Amino acid sequence: MHRFQTIAVHAGREDFGELCVHAPPLDLSTTYPIADLDVAGASFDALIGGKHDAANPIYARLHNPTVARTENAIAKLKGTDACVAFASGMAALTAVLLARRAHGGHVLVVRPLYGTSDHLLASGMCGLEAEFVAAEDIATKRRADTVLVVIETPANPTLDLVDIKTVIAAAGEVPVLVDSTFATPVLQTPAALGATYVLHSATKFLGGHGDVIAGVVCCDETHAGPLRTVRAATGGLLHPLAAYLLHRGLPTLKLRVEAAQANAQVLAQRLAGHPAVNKVFYPGLGTVRNAQLLGTQMCGPGTLMAFELAGGHAAAAKVMATVKVMTPAVSLGSIDTLIQHPSGLTHRMVDPAAKAAAGITDGLLRLSVGIEDVEDLWADLAQALG
Ligand SMILES: *Cc1c(COP(=O)(O)O)cnc(C)c1O
Repeated sequence: MHRFQTIAVHAGREDFGELCVHAPPLDLSTTYPIADLDVAGASFDALIGGKHDAANPIYARLHNPTVARTENAIAKLKGTDACVAFASGMAALTAVLLARRAHGGHVLVVRPLYGTSDHLLASGMCGLEAEFVAAEDIATKRRADTVLVVIETPANPTLDLVDIKTVIAAAGEVPVLVDSTFATPVLQTPAALGATYVLHSATKFLGGHGDVIAGVVCCDETHAGPLRTVRAATGGLLHPLAAYLLHRGLPTLKLRVEAAQANAQVLAQRLAGHPAVNKVFYPGLGTVRNAQLLGTQMCGPGTLMAFELAGGHAAAAKVMATVKVMTPAVSLGSIDTLIQHPSGLTHRMVDPAAKAAAGITDGLLRLSVGIEDVEDLWADLAQALG
């Protein structure tokens, strides 16, 4: 078994010698010629039934070799049986909820979460009743019809950490989904701790260059099958060109995360000492919930932080408007530094009381640090802070 960085470079490329290629083949077919009707029928049954591949792909909503190649590469990197790729992180979460819906009607959710995940769950539009609870209350709030526990760690945007092992123990037989987007596969391995589903918005670090929308769920083969069935039926599939770009991002994932993390540590420290800043939320400063999990559950403090400005909304708006090197934009995990206002943007749809409880104030900005030179980033931030 090779180490992470070797797998990142070579996974999904094992057959290149045999194919005599040095870049992954990109198959844009929407349909596939059928040589034998019986073989095709059996393939159709296998794919709609959730199998990863079959003798004939039949139709691109059922299977695509380029997407499957990227899925295999990500599964290898994550050390899970399977990876199922979707059109976006939200399509991935939707598929898990729909797959679990077959088993009951109740889901336990720990806030805070990515704003749209919160919205999807709170709305009940996938047919599951979401109950928002503290991580400590999972064992007592579990019901006979609870089919899923959803957590996100580090959480968006407060960077609070949730103890994955404790949650899994409290969930008992109920599968736990960990949204590990912020941690990336480099800094955290929830599947190794027993998480049933590990979700990444691959739009973020896995793609890494701001040009792919994608989502992945890593899990065992038993849980992957129903996700593929949902994907084939609902059509939330990843386009092969997006899968190609996602695959291309994997070899540099660790390098990008480590470079951005080194920058983030410097910026967090300097922001904490700046007079315009009330508080910096960053695992590396120990200023988030369960910061003691740094070094065990999570092997580095990461590339994201949030900071609260003493000047409230007006000061936050001014920083967003005056940064020149950083990009004032939502999303995260890109090679460039992104700065955004959770209360006014990503967390707009979250219930105001829940926002207040999570510390998402009008003066809070979230920074996703990129791989630029840190001195240029600090100079930019310092001039914007005034
Ligand atoms: C962006 C994000 C999502 C949603 O992913 P999309 O690819 O935008 O659909 C889910 N969870 C987290 C933590 C995210 O950052």
